[in-house]
Amino acid sequence: MRKPIIAGNWKMYKNLGEAIELVRQLKENLADVVSVEIVVSPPFTALAAVAAELSGTNISVAGQNMYWEEAGAFTGEVSPLMLKDAGCTHVIIGHSERRQFFGETDTTVNKKLKAALKAGLTPIVCVGETLEEREFGGTMKVVEKQIREGLEGLAPQEMEKIVIAYEPVWAIGTGKTATPQQAEEVHEAIGTIIAQTAGGVARNIRILYGGSVKPDNIDVLMSQPNIDGALVGGASLQAESFIRIVRFKNSK
Ligand code: PEP
Repeated sequence: MRKPIIAGNWKMYKNLGEAIELVRQLKENLADVVSVEIVVSPPFTALAAVAAELSGTNISVAGQNMYWEEAGAFTGEVSPLMLKDAGCTHVIIGHSERRQFFGETDTTVNKKLKAALKAGLTPIVCVGETLEEREFGGTMKVVEKQIREGLEGLAPQEMEKIVIAYEPVWAIGTGKTATPQQAEEVHEAIGTIIAQTAGGVARNIRILYGGSVKPDNIDVLMSQPNIDGALVGGASLQAESFIRIVRFKNSK
């Protein structure tokens, strides 16, 4: 049985004071949750403070991005070791906004993935098709390429440590959610693709759905057999909605 993960991606929101206020509410209201892995991903400037506030709780902290080198003359970048030092246990890699606005490719995703694993961080690797790609029937082709190239060269034991987030680009921040059937179809296909390279360990790899997840759609999404959690953007910025999402009703 795969333990579900609910991860909040705060994107470029929340100053220090707002970040601490939000996590205080989360830790007070989610302390009893044991059956779900909870992750928050604040902006870099709030990582260390949020991690200190959450130390010893059941909520983990993720970076939203990182560079693949450990240190060096790379102005503006943050290394995997720096994320660890700030208190992160997870890192989001290859979010569609990084691919769309900052030139990330499956090749850079692959380098970052390997560097994150080497540093002992749990990577949450994002894949997903644009609206145009879906309309032209290319969803599976696009996702398969992102997975094969993004995960290239990983041993099955390494693959087991990663988390995949299927995020259709057209559903991110748009209020349009993939139907549970659309999401389930892609999740199932991703499971098959990773089983071809990772073999039996593929059944331990968690696949999250992301794209306008809200309190009113989380229960039905989580009832799909191959949806193991959610990567939540907008609805993770308010305590009330994120708490409700973490407390989804499990009807699997
Ligand atoms: C995201 O940031 O990964 C995301 C899915 O955003 P939203 O939930 O706002 O669509």
